[in-house]
Amino acid sequence: MASVELRHLWQLHEIDQQILEIRARAAALDPGKAIHNRILQLQKELEGEAGEAKRLNAELKDIELAQKAIDAKLKKIDNDLYGGKVVNPREVENLQKEIEILKKQRAGHDERILEIWERMPEAEALANKVNDELTLRKADLAAAQKAAVEQKQELETAFKQANAARPAAVQKVNPSLLAKYDAIRQKHQTGMAKITKKHTCSACGLSLATKVVEIAKEDKVVTCEQCHRILYYTEGLI
Ligand SMILES: [Zn+2]
Repeated sequence: MASVELRHLWQLHEIDQQILEIRARAAALDPGKAIHNRILQLQKELEGEAGEAKRLNAELKDIELAQKAIDAKLKKIDNDLYGGKVVNPREVENLQKEIEILKKQRAGHDERILEIWERMPEAEALANKVNDELTLRKADLAAAQKAAVEQKQELETAFKQANAARPAAVQKVNPSLLAKYDAIRQKHQTGMAKITKKHTCSACGLSLATKVVEIAKEDKVVTCEQCHRILYYTEGLI
């Protein structure tokens, strides 16, 4: 069995390991960064190629308005011509020319409308595909953010518990042993390692010299030659 002192130090070490692990997990918390990037990419696609359907629809509305304006003009000219309002041959000729121009514009618009209709199914399919994924990703992001918040709260609770337990554990450790442990911890993050059943260091895997293991068995403080952590011997339980 390890000495009481070393056992107390091991208890402190376990608390410190917990704190390290909590910190590492907190640092690795992901509020959906990759999903967020994908959303930005999809939104960009909607402004580009995948936004064609939207642009075509807007153009269609503009053309329809222009067509209505042309129709109104044509109707007015028609009334003027056949309502007996315009009788001057020159004026009649001018109006007929205007009718020609308006009808040409109208035909041009009709042609463009057909082009848009032809193009629309493919453009809409692409827009729908991107919008559908966007909806899914937004839901994914909300879920990821919610999970991250929950995990953060759990980690904060665990951190508080470990921190609260630490002073009592520190109290039990011999001060000079504690100083040694803290010095190792500052340099190597963790201050202790176990001696495994195969007489290796549990932290760095070094095969420990028989002499080192013997010292540890005698309940004396000995460190790993490679990683410099204080070795803990528990009759090879691990
Ligand atoms: Zn080691």
